Amino acid sequence: MAQQPDGTFQPELKENAEEAGLPPLEICPMSGAGEDETAMAGRLWPELPADPQIGRHRTTLAVHVADEARRMKSGSGGLVTWLAEDLLKRGEIDRVIHVRATGTDDPLLFEYAISRNPDDVRNGAKSRYYPVEMSRILQDLAASEGRAALVGVPCFIKAARGLISSGYLSGDQVPYMIGLVCGHLKSTHFAEYLAWQGGIAPGNLAWCDFREKLLDRPASDYGFAMRAKGSTPDQPAKIVPMADLKGKDWGEGLFRLTACEFCDDVLAECADIAIGDAWLPGFVDDPRGENVVVVRDARLAERIAQAGASGELVLSDVTPQEVARSQSSGLRHRREGLAHRLARRIDAGRSVPRKRVAPQLAQSAERRKIYDLRLKVAETSNDAFLVAKQQGALAQFDRKMAPLLRQLKRATYGSLPTRLLRRLKRELSRRMRAQ
Ligand SMILES: Cc1cc2nc3c(=O)[nH]c(=O)nc-3n(C[C@H](O)[C@H](O)[C@H](O)COP(=O)(O)OP(=O)(O)OC[C@H]3O[C@@H](n4cnc5c(N)ncnc54)[C@H](O)[C@@H]3O)c2cc1C
Repeated sequence: MAQQPDGTFQPELKENAEEAGLPPLEICPMSGAGEDETAMAGRLWPELPADPQIGRHRTTLAVHVADEARRMKSGSGGLVTWLAEDLLKRGEIDRVIHVRATGTDDPLLFEYAISRNPDDVRNGAKSRYYPVEMSRILQDLAASEGRAALVGVPCFIKAARGLISSGYLSGDQVPYMIGLVCGHLKSTHFAEYLAWQGGIAPGNLAWCDFREKLLDRPASDYGFAMRAKGSTPDQPAKIVPMADLKGKDWGEGLFRLTACEFCDDVLAECADIAIGDAWLPGFVDDPRGENVVVVRDARLAERIAQAGASGELVLSDVTPQEVARSQSSGLRHRREGLAHRLARRIDAGRSVPRKRVAPQLAQSAERRKIYDLRLKVAETSNDAFLVAKQQGALAQFDRKMAPLLRQLKRATYGSLPTRLLRRLKRELSRRMRAQ
């Protein structure tokens, strides 16, 4: 995997890859070759009901860790870290493969790393909306006797399953795959853009937390924390509510990776468990965070039920429909939106990968406009940010993006008066809740 100027990673095809012992192209989750997510999950859990939105499912739950301090240190409800640590402590695995801060002078802030003890696992908590790649770590695993739990967004999990099917890794080496529900991945520009607005210019950002919990707001209204180079970990980080930053709206798709435009897996359908944010009525108002969970593996279902009974985890039942509702925007973008993007590319005479949805333009003119504009925003933003960075001019990026973002906002949320009225209503209900 080779890093590109915008900080993303792309595969480099090597000649005679297979003779050199490298895995075949089909394992690339975006190639459109090989088994799709439905076939993989059907092979792994044939006994489970299949849902077109959330995939195979044994149980669906809302969960948070009971330990308050641990919950606060996590990105959401803390289940990913709890589970990874629990598997390690019980000897089911000897390492966790997940994403941690680099903590060095590395120009990249985060990377896939191996945690072999509970402290390191805990230090890796929180969501990283940042490009990462796992080839180096998986090469180490392939050459070892280790047993890992792999944490990853859906395409990484699918790639790991492909590595197992192609014999590059054995199933015993990755007995657990913990999937993160995924809206999309961002280039390094996302972190740099947020930090730049907070006063730390690109190149000077040493650390950031994309999910700082703000205790006076709902869980969905979190903050961005940042530290400049030269500051020490005991100095307080600068925290800015995401609501005050441009780039907060995930629907806009600023800095979205091109591969994400061709993904149709939101609920990590090939993972033993998929874990996301329960931004649902009854949960979203609690700033401490709650996970929405789809369990597929029987061992994990049993362990989570035990931990619920012993009080380590707090469990609530949610239906598969509620899980899908918690991800409705992401699912719409990856179903109707993907069908639309495929059709647009075919009309333009460009190739498309084989996907689980058939190419078809969106039914309504409004949705067609939204999907077309989102694509433009994603395509324009990475290049425009590179130029702004080279010229040291944040305002130049904002100026370049403003007309597109304005059009997208109007198409998505209506005219300015409609939006102001909606904002007023939201503010009133927030104040009433706070009283
Ligand atoms: C790119 C991205 C997009 C997401 N989009 C959505 C979404 O649309 N809807 C939704 O409900 N949830 C989404 N999530 C998941 C959500 O942000 C939380 O990660 C999830 O709810 C788990 O919370 P937690 O408190 O249990 O995790 P924590 O206990 O905080 O642990 C998080 C674990 O994930 C690992 N990790 C963090 N970032 C990455 C990464 N990029 N790749 C691999 N491992 C990583 C960490 O190392 C840590 O082990 C997304 C996550 C990511 C990384």
